[in-house]
Amino acid sequence: MADLDVVVVGAGFAGLYAVKTLRDAGLRVRAFEAGSGVGGTWFWNCYPGARCDVESKDYSYSFSPELQQEWTWSERYPAQPEVLRYLNHVADRFELWPDIQLSTTVTAATWNAEDSEWRVTTDDGQLRTAQFVISAVGCLSAYNVPSLPGLREFGGQWYHTARWPKGGVDFTGQRVAVIGTGSTGIQVAPEIAATAARLYVFQRTAHFAVPNRNAPVDPAADAALKAGYAEYRAQARESILGVPLTGTGQSALAVPSDEREALYMERWKAGGGMPFLAGTYIDLLVSREANDTVAEFIRDRIRETVADPAVAELLCPRAYPVGAKRLAQSDDYYSMFNRPNVTLVDVRATPISSVSASGLTTEDGTFYGLDAIVFATGFDAISGALDRIDITGADGVTLRAKWAAGPHAYLGVAAAGFPNLFIVTGPGSPSVFSNMVLSIEQHVEWIRDAITFVRARGAASIEALAPAEEEWVAHTQEVAYSTLFPLADSWYVGANIPGKARVFSSYVGGVGPYRAKCDEVVANGYAGFTLASDSDEISVSGRLR
Ligand code: FAD
Ligand code: NAP
Repeated sequence: MADLDVVVVGAGFAGLYAVKTLRDAGLRVRAFEAGSGVGGTWFWNCYPGARCDVESKDYSYSFSPELQQEWTWSERYPAQPEVLRYLNHVADRFELWPDIQLSTTVTAATWNAEDSEWRVTTDDGQLRTAQFVISAVGCLSAYNVPSLPGLREFGGQWYHTARWPKGGVDFTGQRVAVIGTGSTGIQVAPEIAATAARLYVFQRTAHFAVPNRNAPVDPAADAALKAGYAEYRAQARESILGVPLTGTGQSALAVPSDEREALYMERWKAGGGMPFLAGTYIDLLVSREANDTVAEFIRDRIRETVADPAVAELLCPRAYPVGAKRLAQSDDYYSMFNRPNVTLVDVRATPISSVSASGLTTEDGTFYGLDAIVFATGFDAISGALDRIDITGADGVTLRAKWAAGPHAYLGVAAAGFPNLFIVTGPGSPSVFSNMVLSIEQHVEWIRDAITFVRARGAASIEALAPAEEEWVAHTQEVAYSTLFPLADSWYVGANIPGKARVFSSYVGGVGPYRAKCDEVVANGYAGFTLASDSDEISVSGRLR
């Protein structure tokens, strides 16, 4: 018999809840976490300015009514330290610590068909066996440092935002480069600009950002929310983004321009990215013409904010529709460019050519003397963290090889050829196109139920069938390509990592419809999966549809 029923890889929002709920189901579970603390994203990304872009009332667990009632968030969009405190509180409150081993990286997992178990190895030399493995490694945890010639020679300090030093960094009086202007760069740059002698922001693609309008949580509103939290969460589960939001139900093109502008301005003043896109017009993410109306609105706000017209134009995104890269949130990013110590550098026009001991040089020969470089250059998203583990399935094929042409999985949760391996928020699930905590909970509960089902049936394994996987992948692509989301060179399609296959890697049909599909699969006897007992197939269950 295997040492463990379940190995969980990772202890962020997903891993913590997996440990809790699987243990409650009576399973022997152990989580391995590479970090020296729990929290995942919120453990690692402790750069100045890191904060949620989904409101705290949504970006929090719903599985425990008690937890939900006793925890009080201080802000509408909590900063990283508060989310990390919350996750440590969860680990304390549910006594998860004994089942989590920190500072331990899972290096390999190999399916042993004879015993119907996974052999899992870790970087501290352990070999553990488990009937099931749950990947909770995160969609945005494998960070990406671009290979710049000469970086090793750099005499100052360089940092990636996803491996920020725990004690913080003092940039007072320094000349600093921030490379990258996605959600992270937009959060970190204004914080650095406040103390650095000089900040150079190296922008390859201008990014859309809307205001945060962060504010303390109003105690009266919090009490009202808590009185009706169950209903609120029920609405969230049926919604498209995992947050209950309602728009006008109209096309942006069906209303007069002054009416449209007034609504955009109302949302701009209220703050928040999700309400801006999902709380206005129904066609912003499917019609380029409709999207152009909101794109031009944001560009006008940039022009209004940034004093130097040439800098403002460079900051105006034109390369992709609003929302096709994650809409960033900031109250001070654009205005930061009015500071005398901040310079915007266009590395689309003149890419960085090399780093030397004292700074970096762009292709036009301009040299920037630097004391520090901050890489806000993102992640090898969705598949990157799994690709870093040697996972070998039933036919001796590695997951890395299976995914060489792009990551894919049935329902985004299980991959054909990899029995008893489940992936929380894997490729082809709503994951990054939703309030992720809600999507994580849905996946973890679905996985728990599948494991319980397999064991109750006396089966040894469950595996996604290749035709079901292919059909689901085709469906996710069809849905994605009916929207504007694939139109950017983004991490959503793997375009940010040189050599990575370009495949749209999420399901954008919405968390409510996705949940219904997952429930339907269960109702049809785990349609699209096969169950086996000690390597013999015992049932090919239900219909695919
Ligand atoms: P993670 O939090 O990424 O945790 C995965 C863990 O697995 C990590 O701790 C990692 O160390 C560990 N791990 C990976 N590989 C191994 C291995 N081989 N062995 C052992 N351990 C391993 N989403 C939202 O919905 N709203 C937001 O506002 C939001 N803000 C974000 C801000 C930032 C800066 C970033 C980077 C992401 C943000 N996200 C947001 C997405 C965020 O990643 C998810 O919301 C959520 O935190 C993911 O939780 P997780 O447990 O799935 O993964
Ligand atoms: P990102 O969106 O991928 O942005 C990376 C940035 O680095 C881009 O501007 C990219 O330019 C640039 N870049 C990459 N390689 C480069 C190179 N070689 N030279 C110059 N520039 C380079 O990564 P991120 O900002 O870390 O965000 C990732 C995701 O994490 C977000 O989309 C979001 O889901 C989440 N997040 C959320 C929040 C929040 O507000 N809650 C905060 C941070 C992150 P190109 O655009 O040209 O590729």
